[in-house]
Amino acid sequence: MGKNRRGGGREKQDHRPPQDEDDETWTLRPPHNQDQNLDAPSVPSTSLAQSIGEKVNGQQEKQEEEEEEIIAVEASESRKGEDDDVEASESRKGEDDDVLSRLEELQLGVEEPKLSDEQLRIDDQAQEDELLAMESIYGDDFFIFERQEGCRSFQIHIHIETPGEIAVTTKLNSSSDLKTRSDGSDEFSYSFKAQHLPPIMLTCLLPKSYPSHLPPYFTISVQWLHSSKISHLCSELDSIWREQPGQEVMYQWVEWLQNSSLSYLGFDKEIILGPYGVRDAGDRRAVTGSVSPDVDIPFIRSYNDDRLRENFHKNLHECCICFSEFAGTEFVRLPCQHFFCWKCMKTYSDMHVKEATVSKLQCPDAKCGGKIPPGLLKRLLDDEEFERWESLILIKTLEAMSDVVYCPRCETPCIEDEDQHAQCSKCFFSFCTLCKERRHVGIQCMTPDMKLHILQDIVLESTAIW
Ligand SMILES: [Zn+2]
Ligand SMILES: [Zn+2]
Ligand SMILES: [Zn+2]
Ligand SMILES: [Zn+2]
Repeated sequence: MGKNRRGGGREKQDHRPPQDEDDETWTLRPPHNQDQNLDAPSVPSTSLAQSIGEKVNGQQEKQEEEEEEIIAVEASESRKGEDDDVEASESRKGEDDDVLSRLEELQLGVEEPKLSDEQLRIDDQAQEDELLAMESIYGDDFFIFERQEGCRSFQIHIHIETPGEIAVTTKLNSSSDLKTRSDGSDEFSYSFKAQHLPPIMLTCLLPKSYPSHLPPYFTISVQWLHSSKISHLCSELDSIWREQPGQEVMYQWVEWLQNSSLSYLGFDKEIILGPYGVRDAGDRRAVTGSVSPDVDIPFIRSYNDDRLRENFHKNLHECCICFSEFAGTEFVRLPCQHFFCWKCMKTYSDMHVKEATVSKLQCPDAKCGGKIPPGLLKRLLDDEEFERWESLILIKTLEAMSDVVYCPRCETPCIEDEDQHAQCSKCFFSFCTLCKERRHVGIQCMTPDMKLHILQDIVLESTAIW
C-alpha cells in the first residue's frame, strides 16, 4: 500500500533491479563524463520521458489492485483505519518524476570537468559515505532513487522545526486586482495555528565530480510556499556550498532547511501564505504546488491534524472516567475534543441505549454536552444496539415534529391536520388529537383554556433538544 516505497533509504522504485554503475544498457543516453552533445538535448530527454512513462504505466495496474484491497480492508476494520492514501502516493510519484526531469535538465546545462580516474574514485567513495550517513540520520525521510546515468539521486523529506505552534495566515483580497489596492483596507486575512508543517522536499542528483568540483544538482519542493520564497531558499543553498566548495554539503543543507529556513524567510512567528495570482519566473529549482488559499489551507490543516492524531496515538493518556492510562489508540476522541477510553465509551453508550435515554447520550464530560457522531456510535455499539438507537432517535425526532401524533389504537405515527384531527394510515381510526377520542365534528372537545394548556405542552416538547 505505497508503504513499500517508504523506509530508510531503500530503493524508491524497487520493481527494477538495482542498477550497477557500469550497466547502463537500460537507457540510450551516454554517461555524462563522456562528451555530451549539448546542441541536441531533445533526444535524451525523449528517452527519459519514455522511461518515466513506462515506469508509471507499469505501476498503474498494480496500484489499482492495491486500491481495491485497501477499500476492503477499511470496510472490514474501520476502527483502525490507517491513513494510507494510494492516490496521494501516486501523485507524489508524478511529482518525483517532474523533479527528476528538472534535475536532468539542470545537469545538461552544466559542463562536467574532466577528472582523472583516481579523482572520480575518491568522489564516488565520498558520495557513498555521505549517503550512508544521511540514511542513518534521516531514516524514513530519506529515499534513494534509481541511478540516473550512473549518478546517485535521492530525496529527503525535511520536517521544519516550528517554535511549538505557529500562525499561518493568508491575506484574501476583496478585489482580485492587486495593483488597485493602495492601502490594506480591503484586505481580509485568515489565520490558523499549526504545530506541524508539510515537509520541504529536497531532491538531489550528484554529479560524478561532487564533492570535489561541482555541488549537487537540486530542487526544493514545497507544496504550500510561493515559488519566490522557495527561490530564496535555493540561493541560500548555493551560498552554503560557496562557503566551503569541494566539501560534502548535504548535511549542512538539510540542517539549514530544517532549522533556519523559516526565520530566513521572516516567518519566525507567522507564516504568510501567497502571494496568490502572482507568477514568479524565478529559479527552475523551486517547485511549488501553491495556487490558491482554497488548496493550501486545507492541505496544511489536514497535514497538521494527521500529525497531531499520530502523536496522540503514540503517547499514553489518562481516561477521565476510569482514570486508567492507555495508549492513544485505545481512546475515542469526540468532535468537542474530549477523549475517553474505548471501553468506558462503549459501556456508557450501551447503558443509554439499553435504558432508552438516548437524549443523554452525549459527551460524558458533565459541562460539555457535545454530540457523539452517529458514525462513531455505529462503531461503539453492536448491530442490534445501533438499530435500537436509530429507532429510539426516530421516535424522538417524530415526537419533536409538532404535526406528528400517535394513533391511540395502534401507536402508528400519523400526521395531524389543522383542525386537530388525524387519521391512522394503518387501522384507519379517525381521531381527535387533543382528547385522542374518535373524531367529534361540531362538538367541542374541551374548554379553550384546557386546549391552550395542551397546545403549550406540545410546543414545549417540540422545541426540546434530544
Ligand atoms: Zn476509561
Ligand atoms: Zn465534550
Ligand atoms: Zn391506528
Ligand atoms: Zn377531542
